[in-house]
Amino acid sequence: MARRLTRAWRISAARCALVLALALVVGVALHAVTVALLVTVLLVLGWGAWRLARLSRLVAARTWPPPARGAGVWDALQNLLRLRQQHTEGRQRRMVHMLRAFRDAAAALPDAIVALDARQRIEWFNGASARLLGLRYPRDVGAALPDLVPSPRLAEWLRGGGEEPLVDLLLFDEQVRLNVRRVPYAAGRAMLVARDVSQLMRLEQVRRDFVANVSHELRTPLTVVHGYLDMIEPEQLPGYESILYELRAQSRRMTRIVEDLLALSNLEARDDLPRERVAMRPLVEALRREGEALSQGQHAIRAEIAAQADLLGSAKELHSAFSNLVSNAVRYTPAGGSITLRWQRDPGGGARLAVTDTGHGIPAQHLPRLTERFYRVSTSRSRETGGTGLGLSIVKHVLQLHQAHLEVESEPGVGSTFSCVFDAARVVDAGSGDLP
Ligand code: ADP
Repeated sequence: MARRLTRAWRISAARCALVLALALVVGVALHAVTVALLVTVLLVLGWGAWRLARLSRLVAARTWPPPARGAGVWDALQNLLRLRQQHTEGRQRRMVHMLRAFRDAAAALPDAIVALDARQRIEWFNGASARLLGLRYPRDVGAALPDLVPSPRLAEWLRGGGEEPLVDLLLFDEQVRLNVRRVPYAAGRAMLVARDVSQLMRLEQVRRDFVANVSHELRTPLTVVHGYLDMIEPEQLPGYESILYELRAQSRRMTRIVEDLLALSNLEARDDLPRERVAMRPLVEALRREGEALSQGQHAIRAEIAAQADLLGSAKELHSAFSNLVSNAVRYTPAGGSITLRWQRDPGGGARLAVTDTGHGIPAQHLPRLTERFYRVSTSRSRETGGTGLGLSIVKHVLQLHQAHLEVESEPGVGSTFSCVFDAARVVDAGSGDLP
């Protein structure tokens, strides 16, 4: 393009020179050189002005200039302009096309997507937002989303900044259950993404009911079998003693699994637990005594109360969770090992109950999965010691219902520490007056 322009400049310069030479010849012939040159220069300038005016009109018209056929610099400029305009329009068309494809894809998503400006006003939303959040187009564009949504919980979450995802939000008479996230993407702007999890939750409920019903149905026949097995004395069945002992052990195991499954179903069905004061000193003492009874003198069990604090929650469920940890420590620590129960404050006002043992320990790759149902690091060891594989799931659920969590540190061959970590909101000074 640059070479074509240079050539056009040369041609135009040559044409100017030729016209001026002709004017000179005519001027000499007519003995009026100055007049002839002046008239020619004025004509050349006038022609230039006319082409410039034509070019400006073409630029202003915003349409493609027609192709110029001449070889001079004005024609080259006109063709250059035409080419640029073609490029720009092509790029614009491609961008509009991409933008439309992008919007169509977002509009077709089954999740509700709402683009919000820095003041939480709606800039755009897709079709699913009408179904899931009740938004209407174009009525709601420009309106503040917290004022429009059909749920006070969602409105409050939005006003609070929506840092954490909002789970299991019930809308429209509990017909729709949503998980909602706020995704910030540019200065103050954010995208609200709401996913319909109604079907998923229904399936989850069916699964829970099934497990609860099966466990419940199994409990009575198991009690009967267990009762009869206990009534039979091994001496009454000479030669079958070992089988009888095995039958008793297995029926006890089944009963424990069913009891643990029922306990889990019970916990899963609850949204919260009673909020009573749980005195920690006597509880930790009781846990130590239980540990000693289980260990039958095979371990050194100590209790350290470093915090003069109590917990707010369900005494029964907390006891069950903590005693699961103590029972695990006893069962997974070889004879001669030691176990320490420690109740201590955390920085920030929270507190933790830690159970430390000098047992087998757990390889790091198993730690993230320990609280899954029936997950065992060593199946044989768990069975030998009477484990159901459900203890830590129960611990996790109990802690979740107390807005607390489980932390596990472990080193194979050295030992493990399982800590139940509670927020400041669940901790009160021991012996202080009424509950907050
Ligand atoms: P189980 O009834 O099998 O003990 P849990 O849910 O209580 O089931 O524990 C899951 C698994 O975690 C156990 O099978 C065991 O492998 C491992 N585990 C739990 N506590 C300890 C511990 N204190 N030391 C070593 N391993 C442990």
